[in-house]
Amino acid sequence: GYCAAQDYDFFYLVLQWPGSYCDTKQSCCYPKSGKPAADFGIHGLWPNRDDGSYPQNCNPDAEFDPSKVSDLLSSLRANWPTLACPTNDGVRFWGHEWEKHGTCAADVFDEHGYFQAALRLRDNLGVLRALTAGGVNPDGGYYTIDQIKGAISQGTGFEPYVECNRDESGNSQLYQLYFCVNAAGDSLIECPVLPRGRPCGKRIEFPAF
Ligand code: 5GP
Ligand code: 5GP
Repeated sequence: GYCAAQDYDFFYLVLQWPGSYCDTKQSCCYPKSGKPAADFGIHGLWPNRDDGSYPQNCNPDAEFDPSKVSDLLSSLRANWPTLACPTNDGVRFWGHEWEKHGTCAADVFDEHGYFQAALRLRDNLGVLRALTAGGVNPDGGYYTIDQIKGAISQGTGFEPYVECNRDESGNSQLYQLYFCVNAAGDSLIECPVLPRGRPCGKRIEFPAF
C-alpha cells in the first residue's frame, strides 16, 4: 500500500456555519438528503505545517471510494453536509477533502480513519452548545469576537480562529471556526499558528439557518 512520511505538524479542523454559507450573494443548494441541521458542519481536516504552509493532493492514486466509508455515510450526511450548487449527495465535497487534504495524512489515516476522526473531533467539541450556553445564539443578532471566542473557550476548552464572510447586505458574519488537532489526529491542541485572514470587524452577525 501507499506509505509516506509525515509532512505536516498539526491539523486544522475547520467547521462551517451553514447559515453563513447560504445567505451570501452566491447562495447555496441543500444536499439531496435535505436541509441540514442548524449546526456547525465539517468543512475539512487539513494537515498544516508550523510555518503556515501545507501539503496538498499528496496521492493521486488514492481516489475517494464511498464504499470505504459506507458505515459513516449517515453521519457524514448529518455532520459534513455539502452546500455547494448544484445539489448533490456530498460525495463530491468529501472526495475533494479526502483527495486534497486527507491523502496528505497517510501516515496516520486511511480513508475511513480520516472521516471517522473528523466526525469524532467535531462531536466531542460541541461548539453550538458552547456558543448558546454563553449567550451567543444563531438568531441574526450581532456579537463581538470576544463574546464568540469567550463562549467557545469556556464551553470547549479551546479557542478557535474565527473566519467571517459577508451576507448579501455586506454585514460581517460568523462563517468558519478553525480548531487545531495534534499530528496523530486524535486530540485538540492550542493552535501552533493561526491561518492568515482578514479580521472579522467589531460587529459579527450570527445568522439563523
Ligand atoms: P478554497 O476553498 O479556495 O480551496 O480555500 C478557502 C480558503 O482556505 C483559502 O483562503 C485557502 O487558502 C484556505 N485553505 C484551503 N486549504 C487550506 C489548508 O489546508 N490550510 C490552510 N492554512 N488554509 C487552507
Ligand atoms: P477547500 O477549501 O477544502 O480547499 O475546498 C472546498 C471545495 O469544496 C470548493 O471547491 C467548494 O466548492 C467545495 N464545496 C462543496 N460543498 C461545500 C461546502 O458546503 N462548503 C465549502 N466551503 N465548500 C464546499
